[in-house]
Amino acid sequence: MQTNVLLRNVGVADSYQIETYVQQGGYQALAKVLEEGQPSKVKEVVLNSGLRGRGGAGFPTGRKWMFLPKGVYPRYLVCNADEGEPGTFKDRVLMEHDPHGVIEGIIVSSYACEVEHAFIYIRGEYNLGYQRLRNAIDQAYAAGFLGKNIRGSGYDLELSLIQGAGAYICGEETALLSSLEGKRGHPKLKPPFPAAQGLYRKPTIINNVETLFNVPFIVLNGSDWYRQWGTELSPGIKLFSVSGHVERPGVYEVPLSTPIRDLVYDICGGPKDGVPLKAIIPGGSSTRMVRADVAMEARLDYEALCDVGSDLGSGAVIVVNEKTCLVRLVARLAGFYRHESCGKCIPCREGTDWMYKILQRIERGEGRAEDLPLLLDICNNIAGKSFCPLGDAAVQPVRSSIERFGEEYEFHIREKRCMVDG
Ligand code: SF4
Repeated sequence: MQTNVLLRNVGVADSYQIETYVQQGGYQALAKVLEEGQPSKVKEVVLNSGLRGRGGAGFPTGRKWMFLPKGVYPRYLVCNADEGEPGTFKDRVLMEHDPHGVIEGIIVSSYACEVEHAFIYIRGEYNLGYQRLRNAIDQAYAAGFLGKNIRGSGYDLELSLIQGAGAYICGEETALLSSLEGKRGHPKLKPPFPAAQGLYRKPTIINNVETLFNVPFIVLNGSDWYRQWGTELSPGIKLFSVSGHVERPGVYEVPLSTPIRDLVYDICGGPKDGVPLKAIIPGGSSTRMVRADVAMEARLDYEALCDVGSDLGSGAVIVVNEKTCLVRLVARLAGFYRHESCGKCIPCREGTDWMYKILQRIERGEGRAEDLPLLLDICNNIAGKSFCPLGDAAVQPVRSSIERFGEEYEFHIREKRCMVDG
């Protein structure tokens, strides 16, 4: 079953213009919270809804907001729009087609958190999203939804739009804050966590685009309405960006806990050209690869995907068919992490380089018998020993593919060619 809440404006003519957004019922959640005048009530409804962060970590949003230290101001809210996880393109759709929805989510969430300056940090490559947001922010200021004394409520909010320079690591929240402060985008040690000490050493809430986008709907309709979908621990609706070997790739909105089979077969039209599927990467390239037959029995929620040895991640479902060489695919991903490693810590900086080199030589037909244990040994020396989550992320495709599709690697090494395309 598909829902049409988050994507309701996609496909509407001029959906990114303020007149269209208001006509479609936009900025009503903002009017409601300003009229009620109780930020704590907004926090409470979001907490009760069980909304979890949609950027990948899945941390409950309301609980994150509760970490803000009482009485410490100024405090900031940062919308993480640095969507760089391979396979993920759902936030892009929201920003390009419904930028006012993103902005309303930011304003309502800022109001709840008593923030008077919010930021959007958008991925450098997202030019159209940047332009649409730039235009929408200007319109929101002109209409009195941003700036001083919003709609006569006495509440002030400035919103700054900052474009990144194309570094994947800046999606990691402490690196993002470093970049936002004008420094090199390197991660920082936690604690302190940003909610206690973030941007300019002030309390800072960082939420993903889709997370914030959900907030106005929850505010307008209540937490029980949101909980009609999903499970107790994974409630609500979620966007999934589906790519790879399906007939209709794209961004789809479904309730959490929808069977993967329904998404792939019913909604996306099934395997492309009828070629049987081999593997599914359910949550972006940082999540573990699963055999397609195992994945088809799983559901798309945080807990169910853990049960099959993977994660929901950012909701980027990458579908891989039997004609795909997994060694080549994983080598490509390893090349990405090697390129994006910021170089701050040795396990990740050196390990990603070695993984890439070894995978490439296996793919070229020059693999050695000891390469698989060597790759796993490198994985063990990166995972849990790196400074930030990028190291762990880089390991996932390599380790899970060796563990679950080891026969492909062995064939490559033994026969010095690919078992898929010769
Ligand atoms: Fe940089 Fe990688 Fe270390 Fe993270 S794990 S700090 S990306 S080198």
